Amino acid sequence: MTLASNVVIGLDIGGTKISACLVDQRGQTSFVARTATPAQDGAEAILSAASTLVEQVIQAAKIVPTACGIGSAGTFDTGGRVLQATNHLAGWTGTDVSGAMAERLRIPVVTINDVHAAAFGELWFGIGRGQNQLAMIAIGTGIGGAIVVDGRVLRGNSGRAGAVGHIPVTAPTTRMCSCGGQNHLEAFASGPGIERTYLELAGDRLDLPTIGDVARQGDATALAAIQLATDLLADVLADLITVLDPGSLVLGGGVLELGKIFLDPVVDRVLAGLQVPLSETRISVSSLGNQACMIGASALALRHLEGQDIASAFA
Ligand SMILES: [Zn+2]
Repeated sequence: MTLASNVVIGLDIGGTKISACLVDQRGQTSFVARTATPAQDGAEAILSAASTLVEQVIQAAKIVPTACGIGSAGTFDTGGRVLQATNHLAGWTGTDVSGAMAERLRIPVVTINDVHAAAFGELWFGIGRGQNQLAMIAIGTGIGGAIVVDGRVLRGNSGRAGAVGHIPVTAPTTRMCSCGGQNHLEAFASGPGIERTYLELAGDRLDLPTIGDVARQGDATALAAIQLATDLLADVLADLITVLDPGSLVLGGGVLELGKIFLDPVVDRVLAGLQVPLSETRISVSSLGNQACMIGASALALRHLEGQDIASAFA
């Protein structure tokens, strides 16, 4: 095993799966590995699954990375400790993720919010390159966001800036959000939210890819479940654009795998509700896909290793 300078291990700890890979200084990934998140088994189980996955990548690559960059669901303090997590990751709140992983891996670790990490990825290596401001929204198991201002990701007062998933919406039914709030966007427009709507309308449980398949075949119930999500999401995104005037809106997350049947109505409804020049906001899909988070977190870890202050990447 050789210690590879400028090669970092990237980790993406989500509510459904954990991904890991090597990331070089140009943002190129290799040796991608995935495992299911033991999301309801507590922080120790999640940390163990993550470090086991990292060991697998190291064994396969025969390289010891010099640092680890982690993007995870939840709100983090500047030292990599979870300030708040939703029930997608049970017991995660209060966990010193950077400290615990550094102890296990014996390399420096940087941990930030997963969508903040994805925004760095897109900004430095993806579709956001060359842009100084943009808003990024990821729609997956949860819904997260990041706001880039003057090339920096806005942390906000408590580290949760951009959390559009927890904006209350007017919905036809009352539903609890993963954060404990009521009728937040995430409860209706995330992957589990769409599945829940379909279950309520059809009385029958289907997973998201299947809902997409039957919707494309014209199934009215599946189309209605998707439409509730796209309507509510688009209205929140239009509000976001109205407030921020970001010029560019980047969408990511697993729900976009539904394809045009999800994306087109969102884009149409967002732009239809805005006036010039906001209606000219560029809406695009993440170019790094599900690797954006690992690439962004790794780049930040590399900066940390080079002695740069991580806080300077944030506004
Ligand atoms: Zn919420």
